[in-house]
Amino acid sequence: MQLQRKKISRLGILWFSFLLMSLAVCGCGGNGQTQQQENKSVEEEAGTKEPAFSTESEALTVLFLDVGQGSSALVHQKDSWMLIDGGDREYSAYVVSFLKQQGVKRLDYVVVSHYDSDHLSGVVGVLNALECDQVLAPPDLGSDTKIFASFEKACEEKGIVPLNPKLGETFSFADSSFRVVSPAAYEYEDSNSNSLGIRLEYGDNSFLICGDCTEESEQDLLYQKVDLKSDVFAANHHGSRYSNSEEFLQAVAPEAVVVSCGIGNSYGHPDASVLLNIQKLGADLYRTDLQGVITAVSDGTQITFEQEPSMDYRSGTELREAGETGSAKEQTPETEAEGAENEEQKANGQGPELELYDDDVRSYGSGEQEYVLNTNTKKFHLPTCSGVQSIKEENRSSQTDRASILQQGYAPCQRCNP
Ligand SMILES: [Zn+2]
Ligand SMILES: [Zn+2]
Repeated sequence: MQLQRKKISRLGILWFSFLLMSLAVCGCGGNGQTQQQENKSVEEEAGTKEPAFSTESEALTVLFLDVGQGSSALVHQKDSWMLIDGGDREYSAYVVSFLKQQGVKRLDYVVVSHYDSDHLSGVVGVLNALECDQVLAPPDLGSDTKIFASFEKACEEKGIVPLNPKLGETFSFADSSFRVVSPAAYEYEDSNSNSLGIRLEYGDNSFLICGDCTEESEQDLLYQKVDLKSDVFAANHHGSRYSNSEEFLQAVAPEAVVVSCGIGNSYGHPDASVLLNIQKLGADLYRTDLQGVITAVSDGTQITFEQEPSMDYRSGTELREAGETGSAKEQTPETEAEGAENEEQKANGQGPELELYDDDVRSYGSGEQEYVLNTNTKKFHLPTCSGVQSIKEENRSSQTDRASILQQGYAPCQRCNP
């Protein structure tokens, strides 16, 4: 808790810290620790909430967008921008307009964690709408989906050749840098396990964002002793219980965890066991399904969240059973202005399309549907899924009762959403 207070504070504190630090840089001198202590007393008296985002700021800002059941994060410092994933197709237009609203004209980096549509679709929208210097992504391991073809086409049209960075490669981003921390190698059968993950660093602060990294991938990173320790951790795979192992969470030892998922989603994300482990770590919880966009600002010493941590530890399944589905923002706009903004967005057709996740509108039939099981990865697919071809014969079996498949501990493939 002590560390938490020291490094992660909340609300408008940062702007006062920043102001004081700027004064110090301008000739007041003094060591960092004293400045922090001085800041505290001023901070505590400071009641006004400054905007958490300014283009003149030297701070590193990470915005976890509210893209329903998917992931997307926008990173900014000085005049540099990076997008990490872009959410699913229903949110593509929203992500593009969000970036434009923030004043993004050119992105220094677009990072694609992997090629599942809940991460890739919005990226394609963004690549088509904005300029981008460099795309970082896993190699093409037989991704033959429509959205992957659109991604390749968008890159080609912009003259971008995506880089496939390897574990340990580092890149500079304004006054920050980021290092590739996953996967150990691009050699997994499951596309989620190949998720390209980065650890973003500014001064003493760090953020870990690894897409849909799975437990097998997490295990390999732990085995390779990859330095994962980070202040803020974007929960792997939307808080799935097939990721975010206790061991992994302990290695990251985050002070705050951000879960990006759709409220009451049919996958049950975030899982109750993962939420419990986050609680056990004593980390603050933030979740896009209940809080909308989550904004974290680092001055290199402290990370300030614009939101209060969520005290709601209900799993996706619990929320779904309670009938809570749809967007948090739609249900409870935080301020009147925001409510009005949402109305405006909706009127302009820019707001996120809600509730229409594939799984919600699909009827599961009466058990006639055949599913292909991978007994090795414990995933199941539709027979038409491109992932089925790469399942080794000895690991392949087929069943028809979806409920029973789930009961046996199989997870639905995120590509075909069986
Ligand atoms: Zn995902
Ligand atoms: Zn995925």
